[in-house]
Amino acid sequence: MDANEIKTAVAHQAAARTAAEAPFVNLSDPALVLGPDGRPAVSRRAPIYEDVPDAQWNDWRWQLSHRVNDLEEVGQILNLTEEERVGLSAPDKFRVDITPYFISLIDPDDPDDPIRRQVIPIGSEHEAFTAMMEDSLAEDRHSPVPGLVHRYPDRVLMLVTTQCASYCRYCTRSRIVGDPTQNFNSRDHEAQLEYLRRTPQVRDVLISGGDGLTLAPKLFEKILRGLREIPHIEIIRIGSRVPVFLPQRIDDELCAVLEKYHPLWINLHFNHPNEITPEVSRAVDKLTKAGLPVGNQSVLLAGVNDCVHIQRSLVHKLVANRIRPYYLYQCDLVEGSGHFRTPVGKGLEIMEGLRGHTSGYAVPTYVIDAPGGGGKIPVMPNYLISYSDHKVVLRNYEGYITTYEEPENYRKHDSAACSYCQHERPEPGQSGVLGLLEGERMWIEPKGFEEVHTRGNTEAHRLQDPSKWVPFGVGALEGQAGAPLRVIEAGEIADPEAEAAAAPAPEYGPGEEPRPREGEPTAAAHGELL
Ligand SMILES: *Cc1c(COP(=O)(O)O)cnc(C)c1O
Ligand code: SF4
Repeated sequence: MDANEIKTAVAHQAAARTAAEAPFVNLSDPALVLGPDGRPAVSRRAPIYEDVPDAQWNDWRWQLSHRVNDLEEVGQILNLTEEERVGLSAPDKFRVDITPYFISLIDPDDPDDPIRRQVIPIGSEHEAFTAMMEDSLAEDRHSPVPGLVHRYPDRVLMLVTTQCASYCRYCTRSRIVGDPTQNFNSRDHEAQLEYLRRTPQVRDVLISGGDGLTLAPKLFEKILRGLREIPHIEIIRIGSRVPVFLPQRIDDELCAVLEKYHPLWINLHFNHPNEITPEVSRAVDKLTKAGLPVGNQSVLLAGVNDCVHIQRSLVHKLVANRIRPYYLYQCDLVEGSGHFRTPVGKGLEIMEGLRGHTSGYAVPTYVIDAPGGGGKIPVMPNYLISYSDHKVVLRNYEGYITTYEEPENYRKHDSAACSYCQHERPEPGQSGVLGLLEGERMWIEPKGFEEVHTRGNTEAHRLQDPSKWVPFGVGALEGQAGAPLRVIEAGEIADPEAEAAAAPAPEYGPGEEPRPREGEPTAAAHGELL
């Protein structure tokens, strides 16, 4: 070995040692995504904001004080449609306010943009619908003090403000949210805390609103401290859409406050993959590093996310950011949300497309918040009692029975125009498993529900296979003309197809129980008494 070789070997060793000591950088971490300039990736800004200095753009106070809310301002950012102009001009509309960051995520030329639909009003949002209610969850009736909803035995919902960072057109609490004259103040917070001090069965407090994270940081901390001083309160959770509308708000200062009040959980509210931006990834990263388990509650919204492929992409993006999908909510029967409502079958179809097809971590629970105030009810056996062509009957954990009216007009998701459907992720080898999955579809579609367009379209909801309903003349009466009741011999295995072909369709006798036409189910089977 000559001197040069020794020098090279030493240099190699040194390089290897440095490499081993260098901190590992996980380049798959969504919070570390870099832009083309090698700096942290940023979302696009609408052209009118191009000259805003970064320091202002990244300041949550600047974002809040520069929200857009009128026709003229929105019109400078988006090419508005006629119905949006009508919506934005309506004098008695639910509040409009959108952070510059969030409105910049909208494609200005696409009237069906999923973010746009959530925050830009359209004229028809004022249309009333059957079963519409102002306070569809009867929260006001369950409030022992203003803003505190005590519906469940061991936990409460604490509304600390009516203000949000931006306003969602389908908001469940639009009766109070956005209205500064109905806001809760420190005296209300004190009354809420006093109720909790005297109510030892409450072990879990959910801070919501409005959005608690829009409060002045000192005020928010005062509430957290007040709650933590109550010994029987085990967990505190925050329900917030601030990280979606205003990720800039999740700064080190806020996280340092949150950290002091553990165990603290947080549920966010993403509805579409477009909402998960690099800014959001970094905000959520901060929350998880501050030790908060992060969940997500989505609302199923026609024209926004009523598609298995969109939902699948959403939950995958969520878990990649360490956000655990918690609930998928059926849209509430609240004023302003008529055009967002979907049939319950759509939610069931989405659940079919997730469970088993992806990680259990990525699968939320599909719930309907009971109209009239019975709490959240999972849409699954034991709780789903009956399902007719216009009503769903459910029971809550206490046995309380409630009904959910299906929408009268649901504009079906347009797969041909949906890029998520068009780029469907293949699942090789999965189709046709056990004969359950028909044709090329990867999941079981609740039969018929998918086709509901209008109430009264009774065919829509029904199983179309006649052999299902007219196999042996069941329902016809013995001795009735054309109703041969045939006794099946022990051990005989029936062939429904041959039976259907052989047995002429029986008729009704006067005053007799009507029996269905071919292809129709029996009344009892479909709960037409509802
Ligand atoms: C959603 C909600 C809760 C929390 O319910 P979980 O199912 O435990 O998440 C508590 N109180 C009210 C009034 C609610 O609406
Ligand atoms: S963030 Fe929540 S409370 Fe605020 S408008 Fe949206 S749905 Fe309503």
